[in-house]
Amino acid sequence: QSPCCLIDSNEVDMTEGTLIGEGAYGEVYLVKWRGTEVAAKTIRSSIASNKIVKDNFLKELALWQKLRHPNIVQFLGVLNHPDRLIFLTEYLRNGSLYDILQKKGRLDPLTAVAYALDIARGMNYLHEHKPHAIIHRDLTPRNVLQSEAGRLKVTDFGLSKIAQGKDVGYKMTGGTGSYRYMAPEVYRRESYGKSVDVFSFALIVHEMFQGGPSNRGEDPEKLADKRAYEDLRPHLPSIVYPEPVKKLLRDCWHKNPDRRPTFAEIIGQLEIIQENLQRKAIT
Ligand code: ATP
Repeated sequence: QSPCCLIDSNEVDMTEGTLIGEGAYGEVYLVKWRGTEVAAKTIRSSIASNKIVKDNFLKELALWQKLRHPNIVQFLGVLNHPDRLIFLTEYLRNGSLYDILQKKGRLDPLTAVAYALDIARGMNYLHEHKPHAIIHRDLTPRNVLQSEAGRLKVTDFGLSKIAQGKDVGYKMTGGTGSYRYMAPEVYRRESYGKSVDVFSFALIVHEMFQGGPSNRGEDPEKLADKRAYEDLRPHLPSIVYPEPVKKLLRDCWHKNPDRRPTFAEIIGQLEIIQENLQRKAIT
């Protein structure tokens, strides 16, 4: 009995696929499945050949398979391949938020807030998941993709684990997630909860207003160290960041994880900010 929705490997011709990207786990291809374009994520054989790792991966995928939300990339199934681990997700034509920021640079405030709302809604869905919250743990601009219609969706739950209990802290066991977006408590290997994603979210929103990361040239690990031990945070010049956005970001990257807002609260605040920006745009 498989924990995941299995797709016969004959249904997808991988040799016809186009390479669209490469991540830590393997390559991503654009392929045709049942007449539609989908993304096929291949997992490196060095990872997939380890039975324990592979089983853990399949468990994560089985969890992802149950998720359905307009701001979460839709999982489609695992290819029933004898010696490779390949899974299919919906294909997001516009690529990642990282690509978008590289191409466009700074976003106008209304677009940035609309994008922030998309991410927050997807993350709220994960955090409110029952019976256990899902912590993403590696929320970065590369793990946010955009559909042709312009909607942002959160992806890549490979590193996420089911939170035990409501918001019971975790002990870090290994390097989890990208240093550039890492919450201080994760870097310090302390117990942590859902609010690590809120910290990463704030850094992403900051980048959307600014057109890229701050301290771009700095080694990401050193940056995480300074954030964890010297409370270093990005600058928020008033000419770029509306006052309520500044306040929201400061709350979200608060050094005390308990003081950070939940995604439900963030959505409420962003909706008010959006309304005010829209009103200003009209008058
Ligand atoms: P990491 O593995 O370190 O998290 P990553 O998120 O970039 O890095 P992948 O998730 O493997 O790694 O994706 C690699 C690239 O492939 C992405 O940056 C994105 O450009 C593209 N990609 C991934 N999934 C999709 C998808 N569903 N639709 C369209 N493009 C995708």
